[in-house]
Amino acid sequence: MSLGGCKQIIFAVRHLKQRLLCCRKICFNNLRFISTITPDKVSYTARSHTCGELRLPDVKKDVVLCGWLQYERFGLFLLLRDWHGMTQLVIPEDQKDVMSEKITNLPFESVLRVHGCVRARPEGQTNEKMNTGEIEVVVKDLHILNRCTPRLPFEIKDFFKVKELLRMQYRYLDIRRHELQRNLRLRSKMVMKMRQFLSELHEFVEVETPTLFRKTPGGAKEFVVPSRYAGKFYSLPQSPQQFKQLLMVGGIDRYYQIARCYRDEGAKPDRQPEFTQVDIEMSFVDQEGIMRLTEELVSWAWPEEKGVISLPFRRMTYQEAMTKYGSDKPDTRLDMLIQDVSDMFKDTNIEMFHKVLGKDSGSVQALRVPGFWKHCSNKDIESLITSAKKGISDVNVVVLKIKDDASLQSGVIKNMEESGRKQLEKRLEISDGDLVFMAAGFAFDPHTILGRLRLSCADLLESKGLEVRDKSRFDFLWVHEFPLFLPREDGADGLESAHHPFTAPHPDDVDVIYTHPEMVRSQHYDLVLNGNEIGGGSIRIHNSDLQRYVIENILKENAEELEHLLEALDSGCPPHGGIALGLDRFLAVICGSNSIRDVIAFPKSHDGKDPMSKAPADISQDDMDRYHISVTR
Ligand code: ASP
Repeated sequence: MSLGGCKQIIFAVRHLKQRLLCCRKICFNNLRFISTITPDKVSYTARSHTCGELRLPDVKKDVVLCGWLQYERFGLFLLLRDWHGMTQLVIPEDQKDVMSEKITNLPFESVLRVHGCVRARPEGQTNEKMNTGEIEVVVKDLHILNRCTPRLPFEIKDFFKVKELLRMQYRYLDIRRHELQRNLRLRSKMVMKMRQFLSELHEFVEVETPTLFRKTPGGAKEFVVPSRYAGKFYSLPQSPQQFKQLLMVGGIDRYYQIARCYRDEGAKPDRQPEFTQVDIEMSFVDQEGIMRLTEELVSWAWPEEKGVISLPFRRMTYQEAMTKYGSDKPDTRLDMLIQDVSDMFKDTNIEMFHKVLGKDSGSVQALRVPGFWKHCSNKDIESLITSAKKGISDVNVVVLKIKDDASLQSGVIKNMEESGRKQLEKRLEISDGDLVFMAAGFAFDPHTILGRLRLSCADLLESKGLEVRDKSRFDFLWVHEFPLFLPREDGADGLESAHHPFTAPHPDDVDVIYTHPEMVRSQHYDLVLNGNEIGGGSIRIHNSDLQRYVIENILKENAEELEHLLEALDSGCPPHGGIALGLDRFLAVICGSNSIRDVIAFPKSHDGKDPMSKAPADISQDDMDRYHISVTR
């Protein structure tokens, strides 16, 4: 049955499963309740309830709570906290003296176990802001399970702004904060649902693949691991790409893995040297099949509290994404589109436009940013242009301001005929206070610069308090029909893979690969969410001759390093394809976090270090000798 056809059944099963899971949860709760009926055993740290659970119907119940001391007042009131919430504890007058010995000067964040009786809070003392604000627990017995140092580096309060480096250095404390608790719990829930969708509903097999591997050709970004064999190194895989293809050869026709991947990309603000992918591969599948499976997987695992997402996701070709948005991962929440205005300047004598027009792939592109001029200074604009031009030298950018009379003002176009200027104003639909960026250059260079400006202008307006993008909106988008190869990013001659060397050409372009490889479209697709690439995949080359040709003749890499894969393709390899979702980024977007570090329990800092354990660290001379390492500093 096709995936689409299965949808109804999936949802029926989903409903049933959720009901079953619900029952299981109730049983589990009962179990937990039963196991905590022995509250007075000091050595037994079980609790009867969480700190966020008790309500008026629980009044008169004997309870045991465990948690962290959040607050203490007058030696009479304590607030006990765990992930589920906070409960007020009251020391009865007749116990005050006995208890005060324990709680006087007891540092916040000490761990307590409290046995007490629930009572309704006296009239006028209820707290509507707390879930448990209608009750309090009258303490009968209190045990300090662990006394906290009085000198914690920061307080565990959400509103407390703590520097990220310090948070990372004491990550175990940071994890106590509500935001991280919420993110990590959401992550666990989504992974569980993904596993359920893939394993239980679609018979995917979860297979673990090695993290000690060998270097992949062209993969300059891999970490190397020394071995005991002098001069021989393992590499940490950038992804399980080769293994999942080998599993297809092995007949595991539906594979997935929550896979740890490693890329040594140096210091990058929002990248992690190790990150997690939901890695998927299927045999006998086409692009359509993978896309539909992914959509249904995402929808199955989608957190209910984030609203409904509608399927199928919107699709856009690479060509359209680059032409209209200047990016292969457009943020479609922003309406601003890039417009080709080359025809308007064809017959003008404006030098900077003239020198690109009429030449191969030369064009003039424009981007109107509504209301931008009103909110930003010339200095802002200049610095946005400078950073948008980074790494692209051959493009001229000019700015046109729209004055109060809604006309274009710029030295550059002052010599333009009045009628031409009017036409341009009409085409760009300008109004007061807008600002227009124009970029003249070759190929997609002007688009790329305007694409960057599109985003940085939105960021700047948002930093000034304007709502440009709807933060509660989730815009999924498939970008497809990528070129198979792109000019090398390092500027050297030749081509590199737009996705990776194993990606298959578009079926209509297979022959073109031998004549005009730069014109071949691929079977590569990326999943984009609010302008973030959250996944990417492709249908793979399963013919070893074609794979060898791509590696040797187009990418100019050494095929010897991939002999094992080429041999496998020759051993009865089924047609196959797959995708990997970047779990960290996906979750960061869902959680509305600016950094992927906020959805990772123990992330590395932006320069790849662990401020807590101080990794990477020195090793002893013995270790160096064992691994034949000598270090030059
Ligand atoms: N292995 C690829 C990546 O990490 C994803 C895929 O093609 O399935 O980007």
